[in-house]
Amino acid sequence: MIQLGCIADDFTGATDLANNLVRAGFRVVQCIGVPDGPLATDADAVVVALKSRTIAPADAVAQSLAALAWLRAQGAQQIYFKYCSTFDSTAQGNIGPVTEALMDALGAAFSITTPAFPDNQRTVFKGHLFVGDVLLSESGMQNHPLTPMTDANLVRVMQAQCRRKVGSLPYAVVARGADAVRAEVERLRQGGIGIAVVDALSNEDLLRLGPALKGMPLLGAGSGVAIGLGQNFVLGHSAVANALPPAQGLRAVIAGSCSLATNRQVADFVARGLPAMSIDPLRIAAGVDVAAEVLAWAAPLLQAGPLLVYSTAEPSAVKATQGALGVERAGLLVEATLARIAAGLVGLGVRQLVVAGGETSGACVQALEVRQLKIGPQIDPGVPWCHATCALAGSDGLHLSLKSGNFGTDDFFTKAFTVLP
Ligand code: ADP
Repeated sequence: MIQLGCIADDFTGATDLANNLVRAGFRVVQCIGVPDGPLATDADAVVVALKSRTIAPADAVAQSLAALAWLRAQGAQQIYFKYCSTFDSTAQGNIGPVTEALMDALGAAFSITTPAFPDNQRTVFKGHLFVGDVLLSESGMQNHPLTPMTDANLVRVMQAQCRRKVGSLPYAVVARGADAVRAEVERLRQGGIGIAVVDALSNEDLLRLGPALKGMPLLGAGSGVAIGLGQNFVLGHSAVANALPPAQGLRAVIAGSCSLATNRQVADFVARGLPAMSIDPLRIAAGVDVAAEVLAWAAPLLQAGPLLVYSTAEPSAVKATQGALGVERAGLLVEATLARIAAGLVGLGVRQLVVAGGETSGACVQALEVRQLKIGPQIDPGVPWCHATCALAGSDGLHLSLKSGNFGTDDFFTKAFTVLP
């Protein structure tokens, strides 16, 4: 029986959470989508990865409830709804609607929500989310192609998506430790608050918060809260948590994120003189078989080392493309093309693949027909290597790293390959 059941709203977010759970001592299995049958492997926690961040709220709710039903059938005692550490959501949701639907299904009177992830410079103070030294709304996220975040006040952002009253659980309480948090939760609950945005500035805050969350039916959070949860459960042995099969095969990177960090990582890779090809959404829309062009270019180069295929672009270029094609169509065209390229690269012998971008990773993992991932060593906070069973890759499987757009150091696309044994 599993203990902690997790629902992630995108695939990079799911590996980010699984990575933190492994580091907190959990034996973790990550499933792509809701599995058909019972879990075959021993695990303390299961992360069900959905691609529900930007779909219609009703669909996101339905998929999340299906994941909840499966996780409860596997014995999950507590549910963790994982969203992005930059609180990526549209005006309609889906963080609010999914949180409330899960609370309704669980009969939960109260839940917390916090994207705090200090290891990745995401901190929450007085209900406001900071990315590094700046507010979320000045962090570059205001220009995100699908989920522009223009307000750093998460109480306000969450309230706009929720029927329940949203409040704040302030830093002064978190700093005093678990008993103070428990008392504040009770006070908030009696005051009619259903969901509270929790302040946290450091890992110590999250470790102090952890025990206060024991027994709360639903936690809504980025991956950070996971680091304090191990102490609430009796966990199995995690000796095998980090061991992946040895890496082999050819290496490639696919980048479909336009976030600041990915822009820097693409620039770093190109500046090293390594082979890189950019794809233009307007040519895809014009009917050019861009995937075939990329695969023909890649085939003779792969033997020499890693190469990069990217749609990553600066905000002004993204806006121009979206103006011509529409936001959704531009995103879907690029995702579908990068997914075909991912499958084609694996067909050419790639067995170590880095994918940058949450939606992009979702599209690639679906095209690769990956069903389950084992979590391996961390490359950077929030980004581990994983090993996937994947029909296209044959019996050896595939080493995959799914990188959230804004995670990782500038040299991530070359450094990643030095981490695998
Ligand atoms: P992140 O993790 O940075 O949020 P995602 O992959 O989740 O990255 O989202 C990026 C979205 O932008 C995807 O839907 C992708 O297809 C789209 N996209 C990528 N490149 C371009 C581009 N050049 N123009 C317009 N949209 C793009």
